[in-house]
Amino acid sequence: MRCTILKTKRFLLLLILAVLLAAAGCAAPGGPRGTQDTLSPSVPAEGLLKVHFIDVGQADCILAQLPGGENMLVDAGNNDDGEKVVSYLREAGVNKIDFLVGTHPHEDHIGGLDTVINNFEIGKVYLPRVNHNTKTYRDLLAAIKARGLKVTTAAAGVEMFSSAGVDAAMLAPVNTGYEELNDYSAVIKLTYKNVSFLLAGDAEETSEKEMLKAGFDVRADVLKVGHHGSRTSTSPAFLRAVAPRYAVISAGKDNDYGHPHQETLQRLEKANVKVFRTDRDGTLIFSTNGDKIATGDGSSLSQFSFLSTRRIILGKTGFIREWPPNHLNC
Ligand SMILES: [Zn+2]
Repeated sequence: MRCTILKTKRFLLLLILAVLLAAAGCAAPGGPRGTQDTLSPSVPAEGLLKVHFIDVGQADCILAQLPGGENMLVDAGNNDDGEKVVSYLREAGVNKIDFLVGTHPHEDHIGGLDTVINNFEIGKVYLPRVNHNTKTYRDLLAAIKARGLKVTTAAAGVEMFSSAGVDAAMLAPVNTGYEELNDYSAVIKLTYKNVSFLLAGDAEETSEKEMLKAGFDVRADVLKVGHHGSRTSTSPAFLRAVAPRYAVISAGKDNDYGHPHQETLQRLEKANVKVFRTDRDGTLIFSTNGDKIATGDGSSLSQFSFLSTRRIILGKTGFIREWPPNHLNC
């Protein structure tokens, strides 16, 4: 009898101890949660590549923050988005844009670039070689000239950089003359260890076919869908070759073009690709350590999409919450 009481007491003590230890683990100020909470919103956690698909309505704007602290900006929305993009970049802690890309001269891609150029220190500027005579394009060229910057031609085969484990290469435009201005789009493949992003600009089927014919390795985990989800891009053959797990469509709510088109959405669905849309989801951030990848707007745990069964990073606009996510263990 006495033995049974002792055993019960010991069990209860162990139980209480276990509960206390578990509680202490969850609340430990020096643990991963505490450390991450003290991060400035502007500083990406060490060793992470963060790719922001900034919601600029019916337009494109993508920021990549490299693990080594460098920044790449691909497009900057429409003319009216310039200030918004500048604010977003400042909030994300960007002081210098080391690599600036205008994928092609349409306003919904280069519109805000002149404002960005006027507000930040700029490294290299990439534009495709094409004549285009609009005020927006002239404004961009004038801003580049005024800052004493040079333009590097965006073209297939250009190795943009290899920095802190991240490589960026251009896969398009393969040729120099196109009927469609969209096909001049610079297409960038960003690779960090085992994780790749393909940023397709507004490249349409013509360019997609050329990339495949050129034998480029277009495979990517995340595809920034070409031309805002238009049916003229993301052709079945290209989609098969990219074989993404996730797709991001940058489009404006109720836009005049009906983007994204149903055909594209159906192709993505058929290919079992999880689709994110700026018109529905707002700004999207993907964070990766080169092995695992995750996204979420950070406003509610239930909104997070767990993109990996392994470690997960919870992203929010310019803010990494936890790494690794301690709550999952608690
Ligand atoms: Zn566009």
